[in-house]
Amino acid sequence: MALLRNSNLNQYCDYCKQRYAHLSRGGELHQLARKPAYWKIVSEHPKRKGVIRFYCLKCAADIQNWPDGTFYSLKEQLQDALKDTAQREYLNVELPR
Ligand SMILES: [Zn+2]
Repeated sequence: MALLRNSNLNQYCDYCKQRYAHLSRGGELHQLARKPAYWKIVSEHPKRKGVIRFYCLKCAADIQNWPDGTFYSLKEQLQDALKDTAQREYLNVELPR
């Protein structure tokens, strides 16, 4: 599993795409749905194809800041998710520059 900086400016945030999908018309993504992704998260599993998700900074912050005020970083979330499968997967985190 890897948390990487996205370098493709034409790759949009998956969350924003979902959030603003109802605004899109005729197969064209609405402007709000076309938010360049900042993070690229790759889940690797020996029995499944890698799942890749993209997030902009805003959505990554939404995921990390919980309603009760807790900060739960993407890195920690990934590490917790890996606890059961630590023998089979690895974590590689590239921090913001
Ligand atoms: Zn987003």
